[in-house]
Amino acid sequence: MLKFVHLPQVMPEKRPAAQRSGDFHEIYRDFATEAAASQASRCSQCGVPFCSVHCPLSNHIPDWLKLTAEGRLEEAYEVSSATNNFPEICGRICPQDRLCEGNCVIEKGFESVTIGAVERYITDTAFDRGWVKPIRPRRELEASVGIVGAGPGGLAAAEQLRRKGYQVTVYDRHDRIGGLLIYGIPNFKLEKSIVLRRADLFAASGIEMVLNCAVGTDISLAALRAKHDALLLATGVYKARDIAGPGSGLPGIVPALQYLITSNREGLGDAVPDFTSGLLNARDRHVVVIGGGDTAMDCVRTAVRQGARSVKCLYRRDRANMPGSLREVKNAEEEGVEFVWLAAPEAFIGSDRVEGVRAVRMHLGLPDASGRQAVEPIEGSHFTLQADLVIKALGFDPENLPEMFDEKALAVTRWGTLKVDHRTFQTALPDVFAAGDIVRGASLVVWAIRDGRDAAAQIHKYLGQKATLAAAAD
Ligand code: FAD
Ligand code: SF4
Ligand code: SF4
Repeated sequence: MLKFVHLPQVMPEKRPAAQRSGDFHEIYRDFATEAAASQASRCSQCGVPFCSVHCPLSNHIPDWLKLTAEGRLEEAYEVSSATNNFPEICGRICPQDRLCEGNCVIEKGFESVTIGAVERYITDTAFDRGWVKPIRPRRELEASVGIVGAGPGGLAAAEQLRRKGYQVTVYDRHDRIGGLLIYGIPNFKLEKSIVLRRADLFAASGIEMVLNCAVGTDISLAALRAKHDALLLATGVYKARDIAGPGSGLPGIVPALQYLITSNREGLGDAVPDFTSGLLNARDRHVVVIGGGDTAMDCVRTAVRQGARSVKCLYRRDRANMPGSLREVKNAEEEGVEFVWLAAPEAFIGSDRVEGVRAVRMHLGLPDASGRQAVEPIEGSHFTLQADLVIKALGFDPENLPEMFDEKALAVTRWGTLKVDHRTFQTALPDVFAAGDIVRGASLVVWAIRDGRDAAAQIHKYLGQKATLAAAAD
């Protein structure tokens, strides 16, 4: 260990921009075994590992780095998977620059340990060598738990509860498991096969999946509460924030998730009329994406791969103040995306469909109470961008949850997210728990996993107490 002094940081090879922007395959190649071991050996085995402190799952990072450096990969996999249900997914898509790697103490002067790439390498190797096995609970319990939402939050909870022996059923309105892992995040960040190989494991573990089932429409929440001893709601946030202004209703202005779902479905081989008709296809188009988060980055890079004529990203703040990962901005720039910083749309031009975006330059003003600088338009600084496809990536809010689930007793916060007791994860209904984006608002995969695991532990506690009370009453 401690080899950071003379061994420089090496990331897994990134495919050249000209090659990768012509396809949807992941942009980073796998680590070779020697590279993973030598990069892991750069870790200085801190007594207080700040990398772990800043990992939402408190992963035992120095432990699995040491085991990898020593070639003890099966043990590294055991340690890594003990705290994370999907390490190969987090290793690919966590914003490591803001979490574990950004807080690695050897970052200053030297470069951080490549934690995410090693984490991914360990579990990919475990899959290749057959070490990833279905769950075999020590004993079967009678109690059953229903989980609504097969995104990372719901799936992590399902695994944790099945390990304890509960009968677990997961309901999702989509036809595949994964939530935003499958229909939001594009292939070039996370290949779909990486998500779908987990589906077989869930089935072999005895977790029942009820797909194409929208709770609130195809089955009521009340019916699920009657069927299961406890429920977990992990349905994410999907109501796209909109933009007002003249021309905002013109054809050719589309919401980001609709665009990404279409592209992901097309990649999965589904029949997608909106893609073939050109409605949600950037081919030969001048594309303007509005927004500066991860969703906007995914849209611009998808448009490049679909063969757009030009792709611009319009964001009202500057590079230093954007919410998306800077690594993704750099990747997008390499692939030919042009960023128009400090600019906001004012109107959309066109008669039958959108032909351009009229924008105004902004400048950053004084910080508000939260420390974030306000943005103000610069008078007389208008300009027009040519655009025949405009993608709105302005963030997401929750749907009207009490209405969606036809359950007025479900309390919500002023942001519309589900109100839970933050220690117990219980909603206003004691047998109904909630986790992930539906509670936090739009967040990260690693936080959804963390919440799913914590909520599962609380459901286990709740069902244990319920069983004890029932036994005492007999
Ligand atoms: P979701 O993943 O949203 O899953 C919720 C599931 O519930 C879905 O499958 C949905 O179909 C289902 N559902 C909803 N309502 C119902 C209902 N009524 N009945 C049945 N099922 C229902 N995070 C990162 O860490 N890294 C990234 O690079 C990243 N990129 C992103 C890119 C995009 C385009 C987007 C939109 C998000 C991205 N995120 C990223 C955020 C991340 O995907 C989410 O924070 C995470 O998926 C939330 O997990 P979840 O389980 O709470 O919800
Ligand atoms: Fe880093 Fe994410 Fe892995 Fe934690 S889960 S170690 S934050 S890549
Ligand atoms: Fe190793 Fe960096 Fe974590 Fe310290 S902070 S244990 S050097 S990865």
